[in-house]
Amino acid sequence: MDSLTNTPNVMRREEGRRSDRSTQAPLSPWLSACLVAGTFLVLSIVERRRPLRRPVEPMLPRTGRNLAIAAIGAAAIHIVETPIVRRVAALVERRRWGLVKQVRLPLWLEVTCAVLLLDYTLYVWHVLTHRVPLLWRFHAVHHIDLDMDASTAVRFHFGELTVSTIWRVAQVLGIGASPLSLSIWQTGLLMSILFHHSNVRLSPGAERRLGKLVVTPTLHGIHHSVVQEETNSNWSSGLTIWDRLHGTLRPAVLHESVTVGVPAFRDPGDVTLPKMLALPFEPQKPYW
Ligand SMILES: [Zn+2]
Repeated sequence: MDSLTNTPNVMRREEGRRSDRSTQAPLSPWLSACLVAGTFLVLSIVERRRPLRRPVEPMLPRTGRNLAIAAIGAAAIHIVETPIVRRVAALVERRRWGLVKQVRLPLWLEVTCAVLLLDYTLYVWHVLTHRVPLLWRFHAVHHIDLDMDASTAVRFHFGELTVSTIWRVAQVLGIGASPLSLSIWQTGLLMSILFHHSNVRLSPGAERRLGKLVVTPTLHGIHHSVVQEETNSNWSSGLTIWDRLHGTLRPAVLHESVTVGVPAFRDPGDVTLPKMLALPFEPQKPYW
């Protein structure tokens, strides 16, 4: 009799557990990897057909260098960021910590809010990597590339990726990002970063329409300009709304005149692989 009266409760508990499990499940790593690799492949093809900027350095050695930095960075993410952040996201989900967990929202709305907040807080982190001298030492390695294409998107010093784990943990804890929200944001972010670093020329109409919503290659090219006032703009990594809200959006006009890089590092001899890896740990020279 008892077991019969308890059946609805048991079913409800089971249903709750099931919905918790589905909320927690991150995107399949294979799906994320296919989306990111596919984006890289498509962009690499389009970059050859519709280049936006004329290259300064020979493509092959430069791409090899960028991919070497990316491989070391990927190892740092695999060893440091992923295990820590994944655990924190699972804990946030279990304990219902963080902003979006304070109200019971439908799953789609909770994920949307979390992804938007992750995108906004990455805008803040990006500004910090330029404003805080210790962080800039590392982020500069990304900026001193003399050209900009999809390979620049993955060229981050392992030190920057390691230190940014602290910010990522704070993002997940403060926002209440579940493993699902986190994986959707990370996959979308990687695709967005590959796209806006790519050397792809869009039609003026596509540029204008897309730029109202997301960061385009031309908009982000301005952030990589050798002119400091231009570098101090267009900080967004996903949606352009954050730059609009902060008044830091520099529209994509006269992009052909933008030279990519940092003035103190214009010589190809300054941007070799050993020099880039050592840069954050050496005495700093004025960048501008
Ligand atoms: Zn930057």
